Amino acid sequence: TAEAAEIGLPHLAGLPVRARLNLNENPYGPSPKAQKAIAEAISTGWMYQRDSISTFKKMIARENGVTEANVLLGAGSGELLMAAGIYYTMKGGLGTNIVGGDPTYMQLLRTATALGADFRKTPLTTDFTYDYKGMAASVNDKTSLIYLCNPNNPTGILENAATMRAFCEDMKKPLFIDEAYMDYAADPKGSSMTDLVQKGHNVLIARTFSKVHGFAGLRIGYLLGQPEVLREINKYCTGGGSISATSMRGAIASYMDEDFVAYSVAKCKESKEYLYKLLKDKGYDYLPSSSNFVLFPLKTDGKQFVEKMAQMGVAVRNWEFAGQHWCRVSMGTLDEMKVFGEAFTSLA
Ligand code: PLP
Repeated sequence: TAEAAEIGLPHLAGLPVRARLNLNENPYGPSPKAQKAIAEAISTGWMYQRDSISTFKKMIARENGVTEANVLLGAGSGELLMAAGIYYTMKGGLGTNIVGGDPTYMQLLRTATALGADFRKTPLTTDFTYDYKGMAASVNDKTSLIYLCNPNNPTGILENAATMRAFCEDMKKPLFIDEAYMDYAADPKGSSMTDLVQKGHNVLIARTFSKVHGFAGLRIGYLLGQPEVLREINKYCTGGGSISATSMRGAIASYMDEDFVAYSVAKCKESKEYLYKLLKDKGYDYLPSSSNFVLFPLKTDGKQFVEKMAQMGVAVRNWEFAGQHWCRVSMGTLDEMKVFGEAFTSLA
């Protein structure tokens, strides 16, 4: 059992965490096949992994209908988000900006703004999707990148693929689509913007093994994009060199393990349905999620709610936007969801 300090609750150091629902991990991963591959890779893990990098890139390229040159690997997608944030800020120069929705996942934007870029943010619409008109209006000649997270974090909302694709095709600027949670969508292939990369558009797609593959601590992610853009971004990251031999071998096994992915998605759905029913029964709304977490509006102060839940050993996160306090709950095992349910009922 983890304890509170390990999961970002230092003031509760020593307190056991009974339900770890604040980091959007997959409580079932990595798959048994991935674990076996990782164990077997230990004895040869002292060698640099040039062959594995190439094998892995070829697999990803084949699966996505692109070439090896369209793939850049990272130790988690976070490394690649940061490298892209650096590249586009440097490329845009003084006074550059990045356009995106608000709220969204901030890792790329945090890096870019730390280096001086401006984040031109457009609030989500009243149905918590992207305001494409608003974003298009905030693009100017100093915009170096448009960042879109789909399904979005923290909302869990999946965009309409045709609407998003039309926006991407319209924009004359580079786009970064963060698809960390796409595996949880009902139709991941149909909802992904990967086809834009296939068609030669200047679009980057970020994917991670941290979620459906259960590799959060094992650190595997990748970018799909045009070769000349990936070569530039690769100047700010290792392009796979920072992935450990064990993680890489595990990822190769996991990538082929379709049964495990289907199992993870099905278990996530079961936990989501439990939570939806609980919230409905208690008179709470929620946003319909296409990811492995659910965002719902609170009736009290978010910070205090998270603190009270943490004191009962339940780790969740709070947000404040659109004049409302929100709670984000990652999908744990059904047992963990029941622990959440008990604690939530005691406060609701
Ligand atoms: N993108 C999104 C939307 C995320 O929520 C996360 C992590 O939570 C990441 C990227 C980065 O994940 P990782 O670096 O583990 O691939």
